[in-house]
Amino acid sequence: MEYDILLKNGRVIDALTGLDGKYDVGIRHGKIAAVAESLPAVDAASLIDVEGYIVMPGVIDSHVHVSTEARWIGYSMMASVGVITAVDFGGPIKDTLRGFATYGCGMSVAGLHTITPGRNTKDSDPTVEEISEITDEALAHGAIGLKMVGGHNPATPEATARIIEVANKKGCYIAFHVGTTEHGSDIEGLREAVELAGKNRLHIAHVNSYCRGLHMDPAAEALEAVDLLRSHRNLVSESYLGTINGTSANIEDGLPVSHVTRNCLRMGGYTPDEKGMGEAILGGWALIQVVRGGKMELVTGEEGYQVWKDAGTQARVSFPVNDTTSMHILAAAKMKGSDEFVVDAMSTDGGSIPRNVQLERGAALVRLGALTWPELVRKLTLNPARMFGFELKGALAEGFDGDVTVAHPVTGRAHLGISRGQVIMIDSVVVGKGGHLLAATPEGAAKAKEVGLSSEVVDLSKSWFYTRT
Ligand SMILES: [Zn+2]
Repeated sequence: MEYDILLKNGRVIDALTGLDGKYDVGIRHGKIAAVAESLPAVDAASLIDVEGYIVMPGVIDSHVHVSTEARWIGYSMMASVGVITAVDFGGPIKDTLRGFATYGCGMSVAGLHTITPGRNTKDSDPTVEEISEITDEALAHGAIGLKMVGGHNPATPEATARIIEVANKKGCYIAFHVGTTEHGSDIEGLREAVELAGKNRLHIAHVNSYCRGLHMDPAAEALEAVDLLRSHRNLVSESYLGTINGTSANIEDGLPVSHVTRNCLRMGGYTPDEKGMGEAILGGWALIQVVRGGKMELVTGEEGYQVWKDAGTQARVSFPVNDTTSMHILAAAKMKGSDEFVVDAMSTDGGSIPRNVQLERGAALVRLGALTWPELVRKLTLNPARMFGFELKGALAEGFDGDVTVAHPVTGRAHLGISRGQVIMIDSVVVGKGGHLLAATPEGAAKAKEVGLSSEVVDLSKSWFYTRT
């Protein structure tokens, strides 16, 4: 047989080849074998008619959280909405691999390892030696780089710049949820991040979350973020379209551990302490995350309060703090005089956080006329593939990985997910098994094999992260 799978009669949209029209897609040995106006059905072991649907390269979620045990459920949540490849922005990388090996749903995943001042370093001002050691260890265990969570666990500005510098010298990835001991996770933190990066390469995580209106009108903050990113192309970035965030409801010594959480309480008119958190849950402002029926749900009011108390105030929480005006500005903004997007990719910062809405909300932006389908596809596939150097992902062209997402053209609902030539999801039912790790080093790729995953080494030197000008 010429093809293992033949997708017939769909509207193929591909950002690399510029295709947008009725084509057939043939997949063989895990790769795209052919895309043409008509491929003979007799040549296919398995024929799937996708008439009336959009056929795009497998969706890449450029920012998710599925690393720790409570979050492993995120794999099936992602696969069910058509995500084929994801980049975990948490770690520890050893936990990411353990969860991925068991719950991977057939997806491809790359992982970042979080450097948490005071937790895996001695304090908020780690030395070059400490940072180097953590980085080497992370890369050897399968990570593609580091993540800093300044909003939750800030380092000093000096140490933050040091971490960026070390990662750049080692040629690995480095992503930043902005914020230091000097500035918060907001537009001021973003200004500071641009300064701290200098000429180094840096990934600015979830840009929309710094434009929640803490200092100016949310739209004004979004426009400033757009200006900063337009004039600093050494920075790559993503933003998401979910209205809720995801943070920690943990209380220590009467205070929320996370500074993000304290901000969220203030935004809802609650005091940033244990009492305020309790009132915010009872009042419906704070939504406690709880696993039910194979997915993460949000509960609030009396029920949420009880869940939080029963967990000894150690729980995850979401607040409806994301401003829709700023997230829409960031989703659609383009470079001046070009078709290139300012914010490279559309992510979810989801996975286990129940806001994997990139296709659903993205399709809504298409209905509004804010984006076209080809533009949405570019932000969900080719751009993130290039950003991370996933050379054979993000396109429906011969020789590329057999990754395909099939979605409804009006609702954006995912109908079919194919990962490296295997069907992993049909109409929200996840059938995929195993997983494929995208690592930065051969040692890291070998670690994946130890836990039963397949793997490959990504060449970050060819990524937008290191090459974009
Ligand atoms: Zn995140």
